[in-house]
Amino acid sequence: MKLLKEFDQKDPLAIGQELHRFAKELYPICRSITGDGIRRTLAMIQKRIPLRTFEVPTGTAVFDWTVPKEWNIRDAYIKDKSGKRVVDFQNCNLHVLNYSTPVRATMQLSELNPHLFTIPANPEWIPYRTSYYKEDWGFCLSHNQMLALEDGEYEVCIDSTLEDGHLTYGECYLPGRSVDEVLISCHACHPSLANDNLSGLTVATSLAQFLSGRDLRYSYRFLLIPGTIGAITWLARNRAATERIHHGLVLTCIGDNGRFHYKKSRRGNAEIDRAVIHVLTHYSESPEFLEFSPYGYDERQYCSPGFNLAVGCLMRSVWGSFPEYHTSGDNLEFIHPQQLAGSLRVCTAILDLLENNRRYRNLNPYCEPQLGRRNLYRSTGGDGIGEDSNARLWVLNLSDGEFSLLDIAERSGIPFSIISQAADLLCKSGLLAVVPDDKPGKRPSTGLANRHRARRGRS
Ligand SMILES: [Zn+2]
Repeated sequence: MKLLKEFDQKDPLAIGQELHRFAKELYPICRSITGDGIRRTLAMIQKRIPLRTFEVPTGTAVFDWTVPKEWNIRDAYIKDKSGKRVVDFQNCNLHVLNYSTPVRATMQLSELNPHLFTIPANPEWIPYRTSYYKEDWGFCLSHNQMLALEDGEYEVCIDSTLEDGHLTYGECYLPGRSVDEVLISCHACHPSLANDNLSGLTVATSLAQFLSGRDLRYSYRFLLIPGTIGAITWLARNRAATERIHHGLVLTCIGDNGRFHYKKSRRGNAEIDRAVIHVLTHYSESPEFLEFSPYGYDERQYCSPGFNLAVGCLMRSVWGSFPEYHTSGDNLEFIHPQQLAGSLRVCTAILDLLENNRRYRNLNPYCEPQLGRRNLYRSTGGDGIGEDSNARLWVLNLSDGEFSLLDIAERSGIPFSIISQAADLLCKSGLLAVVPDDKPGKRPSTGLANRHRARRGRS
């Protein structure tokens, strides 16, 4: 099945607008790593895809970590002497230090000051700050707002709870012909932030919708989880299942105007790394490829040495590199329908490549078969042989059972979609046959094992 071909028959503007509309619905919710915000978010996603939610109790040990207390918030404000709310959680949920303990007090500005967070360099924006693992309270406000606070007494209220409860995460599993899996992971724990959080969530949801009910080669697992602690919790509870994950992507910051960036998996040359690099090189402008580093999003957990999964991270602008990052500037105007749709298309092209990246055997390997009499050798204009005919020659030449279509695409410089079409046509003509997949359920081979297998295959 050709996923990309089908995707390209849809109207990209309508797709982008729908993604942006969904981001707008999710935007006002005050999410955190636990609590009702993430539950409401997952419930809204559940209306679109078969998502199961899981509740893990506070205090559960997950590797070196412990599931924290559950945080919920109803209201928060700073009132001046006249009773006016000068900082109001109801206007923007970023105003509260995420995970603030409850507070009800009256205090002087000098006492309040150590609990206020601003960004002097961008005085209009409210910062996003958290204190998950150290009990604290605070308010985030624009620097201009803070400068306007006059000396005197203020009434401070944070109507929150921090108590034993659960950590909630969502999982959508779409079975394919093989139990071998592709993992798509997004964090769902940021409050009103659009690029960092909602772009990944909306694109992943649409991707799951698109794949749902299809006849797929791989099984797909979508994880919508709180960042860091969610990935750690999932991995601790599903250690055995990780054996089936052959390829994976963390999706984040994919709705802004920036060009694509791909951070490679720890392995660096896994099939997912090569697939993303190939797709971005052929389907996007000036992409940039980053080596793995142990800082970033949940690829850090999937690529920790005990797991070392083939999971990379797809972004447009890199987290932390744009001024709007973790501020109220990362809002619904910062993400765009066209970019969201473009990111969904790139994800579709990556999965299309993985689904169709197989090995073939040339059934007529002694010299070139006569393509002309099969109507498979035509110039598509100009002096050269044309890309389609050239692709057929490459596929026939390298299909000795060892090279995959991605190997052929990389070596020939021809886009994977054209190489894949050539393979289909040659199969129909009886010149090529697919090599069956390895036995399912096995970890993807390391480079070393591949070399052993190739040697055995040749002997
Ligand atoms: Zn973030």
